[in-house]
Amino acid sequence: MSAAKSPSSGPTTSEVADKSPSEPRPSNFIRDAIIEDLKTKKYGDAVIQTRFPPEPNGYLHIGHAKAICLDFGVADEFGGKTNLRFDDTNPEKEEQEYVDSIMKDVRWLGFEWERLCYASDYFDQLYEWAVKLIKDGKAYVDDLSADQIRQHRGTLTEPGKESPYRNRSVAENLDLFERMRQGEFPDGARVLRAKVDMASPNLNMRDPVIYRILHAEHHRTGDKWCIYPMYDYAHGQSDSIEQVTHSMCTLEFEDHRPLYIWFIQQLGIFPSMQYEFDRLSLTYTLLSKRKLLKLVQEKLVNGWDDPRMPTLSGIRRRGYTPEALRNFCAAIGVSKTNGTLELAMLEHFVREDLNKRAPRVMAVLRPLKVVIDNYPDGQVEEVEAVNNPEDESAGKRKVPFSKVIYIEQDDFREEPPKKYYRLSPGVEVRLRYAYFITAKSVVKNDQGEVIEVHCTYDPATTGGNAPDGRKVKSTIHWVSARHAVDAEVRIYDRLFTRPDPNDVPEGQEFTANLDPNSLEVIPSAKLEPSLANAPVEARYQFERLGYFCVDPDSKPGHPVFNRTVALKDTWAKIEKRAG
Ligand code: ATP
Ligand code: MG
Repeated sequence: MSAAKSPSSGPTTSEVADKSPSEPRPSNFIRDAIIEDLKTKKYGDAVIQTRFPPEPNGYLHIGHAKAICLDFGVADEFGGKTNLRFDDTNPEKEEQEYVDSIMKDVRWLGFEWERLCYASDYFDQLYEWAVKLIKDGKAYVDDLSADQIRQHRGTLTEPGKESPYRNRSVAENLDLFERMRQGEFPDGARVLRAKVDMASPNLNMRDPVIYRILHAEHHRTGDKWCIYPMYDYAHGQSDSIEQVTHSMCTLEFEDHRPLYIWFIQQLGIFPSMQYEFDRLSLTYTLLSKRKLLKLVQEKLVNGWDDPRMPTLSGIRRRGYTPEALRNFCAAIGVSKTNGTLELAMLEHFVREDLNKRAPRVMAVLRPLKVVIDNYPDGQVEEVEAVNNPEDESAGKRKVPFSKVIYIEQDDFREEPPKKYYRLSPGVEVRLRYAYFITAKSVVKNDQGEVIEVHCTYDPATTGGNAPDGRKVKSTIHWVSARHAVDAEVRIYDRLFTRPDPNDVPEGQEFTANLDPNSLEVIPSAKLEPSLANAPVEARYQFERLGYFCVDPDSKPGHPVFNRTVALKDTWAKIEKRAG
């Protein structure tokens, strides 16, 4: 073990303890382990080192965000460092496109890695260590086929059977392994296996395969190799090479930990340690790269960054903020048992964040024309509107008002049901920031639908208050017709109809649960003119409707908006009920 960094670069245990009361962080078993290791100086003066190890075979999703926040978060808390390491041991499914998107997404989430690493950079070292295992009688070349190896493996109740090749001499193993590397044998002809224990109750310890023959081009090493290390062999040793102290992964690797430790002990290398935490799972959401890839490849969504996708690029395009995701990850914490969280909880965190910072604007999604008969033709007034009631520093803006405006179709009923307080014949309402208006008559089309409402306004109610103190029961938003900007607005719903997208009748696939109505396109919404040139990714609250953000498909003067989330917070309600 060596202290790679200067001893002053990490805080001491007492500094950590001093820090805790002022900056309380929810405790968890991983933090506890780190605190303990710092106290006992398990790694001497070396700093806490973690890594985030994506396989570059797809785009990152919100499950990865949880892992990233944990890996970078604990290192940061304890003055440590985090590497980004591409786990690129499988040449067939990996691509540069994924490498690039992963780096972009980690940075977007707000983290910067110490070192950029690739497991493939360690192929030479991993090979040398395999040779050492052979020399120590701890690994052998097996000629059994993959099927035979599986058959020999035994079950949870029955021990495995030893391969007839298990007791080859060291010399023969060295010769065969070298020839495997030289490309003398076809794919699948031989493998290198660790010699552990075919009777172990842990199936992962029954002589796991550590190298396989694969004549495939690798995205970084080209055709240098035709043998590739297996995940279990590569991962722990890569951790050790980088002097990772705490290596976090999801619970399905718990049974692999004894093997992780075994390799490190046999090789006598830096003692990295693995810790397992619960996988994030959300209702109405799939977090499997394989299945997300299928959605993309079969064009069931519009690419990896479709705003309905749970990928970081998808939810970024949808308008989610990195802060909202980090707050969500902090709130859910980590545990030792898998469970499924409500999608509504994630939505709660984005609302909470956007409420604080998104400017309010007026936009009408489904326009209904309103003519104010007693308002002077050709007159335009600039009314003053508050940009964000949660943030005084956001200031105010002017919004043009004129004789013809648009309101939401929803905000007018010719025959209002009980308790409908919005506009209807004879009823007076407030136009936000402007005047009181009263509906007088309607114009209908041939189908009998209302296409225009005629109103009068009370000039004394300028700014939205009546000098005589009379009250109205509702305030509606509006956009001046002459000044309105046309926009396309995309309304997204959950991608799947069921809380568990994998819950399908026998013989069907998860794609059967796709909601055909998960995207509704409103081709010509009417926006207040301040939004004409809103930059891509800018986020707003459309008053009374929800949070929206500008999509990259926007053209100058014709923006496209994505609905991030509606205003109604079902999670807050659920919490209130539970509390
Ligand atoms: P898949 O099985 O869908 O391919 P994966 O887990 O193999 O996903 P990796 O690229 O290997 O994907 O993941 C990198 C890291 O992110 C791993 O440490 C993994 O444990 C973690 N991770 C992946 N999915 C989740 C999730 N849903 N919740 C928390 N952590 C996750
Ligand atoms: Mg993986």
